Order: sequence, then structure tokens, then C-alpha cells
Amino acid sequence: MKLRKLASFLDKSHLRPLLAACMPARGIVGLNYHRIGDGSRSELDRGLWSASEEGFDQQLAWLKLNSDVISPAEIDLARRDSSGRHVLITFDDGYKDNYDCAVPTLRRHGLTATFFIATGFIDDPRLAWWDEIASQIRRTDRDEIDLPQWLPQPQRLVVGQREAVIRTMLRKFKSLPGDQAKRFLADLRDATQASPPSLHHEDLWMSWDMLREMDAAGMTIGGHTVNHIVLSGSSAAEQWTEISTCAARIETEIGKRMDYFSYPVGNRNSFNQDSIECLRKLGVAYAFSYYGGFAGINANRYDMPRVAIEPYIDRGWFRAIVELPRLFGRPQDAIA
Ligand SMILES: [Zn+2]
Repeated sequence: MKLRKLASFLDKSHLRPLLAACMPARGIVGLNYHRIGDGSRSELDRGLWSASEEGFDQQLAWLKLNSDVISPAEIDLARRDSSGRHVLITFDDGYKDNYDCAVPTLRRHGLTATFFIATGFIDDPRLAWWDEIASQIRRTDRDEIDLPQWLPQPQRLVVGQREAVIRTMLRKFKSLPGDQAKRFLADLRDATQASPPSLHHEDLWMSWDMLREMDAAGMTIGGHTVNHIVLSGSSAAEQWTEISTCAARIETEIGKRMDYFSYPVGNRNSFNQDSIECLRKLGVAYAFSYYGGFAGINANRYDMPRVAIEPYIDRGWFRAIVELPRLFGRPQDAIA
């Protein structure tokens, strides 16, 4: 973990601000969160928790003093501005802890964020595929999952291995075209025979009332498709249905156009030219990916990079991402 060590050294030695002054970064640092709180005992996908409530509070307190947190409506202006350190705070998916934890914390600091929602989870609360996969592996009483048609090796569920198996299954799902992904999930259900987790799906996602309240409080509501499909695994027609229906639902419920969008999964290969054409036709101003990187002044408006904030990103590392984005916010596949 070379980056963590370097960030820690720069933090302790107080060299980071000096280095940042030598490497001015003109553009926008996009930060991406999913859930806030403690997911360490959750039956769902624990990889979705980006920070604890306390950790998020500390990050915001530092951002407030050391950066200019902007809204997406200010991106054009920020890209032309040669001074300042512009940061865009974003959340993906639409989990209810965003409303319960993130929004009150943001408001306490006088900051705003953008919330990209998959409208299908708001309209019809249910388990998302990643949470279902995690829950299946956690709840099964089998000691091995064998899916020879999908994975070359049986997955042994010995003590301490469940998290690794969950990551393997999630990676497999994300790599498959839409129809095959559905079949993979059905086969996994058959193999695990796990009972569903004991939770109310309504408690998992925000409601339109909550989103309207957030919009009124200065937060921005953006789109993230209807069913959180991996766009590049779907036909152009299916992509159009997912993106245009998401836009229509937001316009109907929030009363504002969907000007901003984030790609589900958000890797370089999670979206394609068909996705961009849909967004262009709908007049979307900016669309965001999620594989890391810094949005310099020449960034592509349909591939605006964001850096994933994860619980293992400690204080020094977080600050280094914001102050030295060209070094610490690099695309993940560029990090050795
Ligand atoms: Zn998402």
C-alpha cells in the first residue's frame, strides 16, 4: 500500500501543502460515496459503506476549511477558474442512510452534495443485485458453492472466506452481459438455497418525499438508471429505456430535469457510445464515471472522473486525494 504510506508521510511531515503548491491542479476533484455508517455487521454488501458517520463528519469539516465545495451547476465556472480547489461531493444509488446520516452532516457544515439515484429502487424498494449476492453467500448453510458453468473452481465457504467469495461473485456478475447476469443470479440462488435477509426493503432506500426535501435544501438529484443495469451489457434500445425512464421519473417527482447522471458500476467498460448518445439526446450536462482520476479543464463531459472514498482511506490519504489529485486520485488501473 505505497500510496497510503506516502500520504501518511506527507501528512506527518507537513510537506503536503508545499508539494500541492508546486503541483497546482486546475479542475474538479469528484468524490464518490455510497453509504455512510457502520456496515461491519451487515448481511448486505459491506463494500458499499464509504465512511463512518464520524469519519464523514471529519472529512467535511476539513473540506469546508481547505477547499471550495461546489454544486454540479458550478462545474463550468470551476473548470475556467485558475484559482481554488474545487470539490464535488457525490453519492450513488439512493440508500436511505444518505438521508438519515449524510444529509444532516452536510447541512451542519453548510455543504451540499449530488445524489445519483436508481429510480427503480425508490419506486419499488427491493434488494439490489449486489446486496442480494452478498446476502446469499452470507446466509447459505452450504460449505461450498459450485457453479461450473460460470466459475472454473468451486468456491469454498470456510471460515474467513465469505467476503472473498462475495467479491468473486460480484466481479463475475459485473463482467456479464445483462441476460447472462440474470441467469448467473438465478443459478446462484439455486446453489445457495439461502433465505432472504430479515429487513424491510422500504428501510433500505430513500423515498421521493425525502428526495424532494433534499432538493429543497440545496442538494442535487441526479440519475443512475432505473434498475442499475451495467449499460454496456445492454442493447442501445434497453439503455435508452433505462436512462430516459430514469430522467422522466426524476422530472415528474422532483420537478427538475435530469441534468446530471452517473454510470452504474462506473468502470471504463461499464458504458459505451450508445450510453453517451442517450445522455446527449436527453440534454444531460455531465455524466460521471467511477474509476478514479481528476477532472482537469479538458475532461470529457460524458466521462467526468470521480475518486471512490472507501473506509480504508485514512485522514492523510483523503487529504492527499483532494490536495494532490493528480498523484493520489489517479485512475485505479493506473495505480501499481
Ligand atoms: Zn451504483
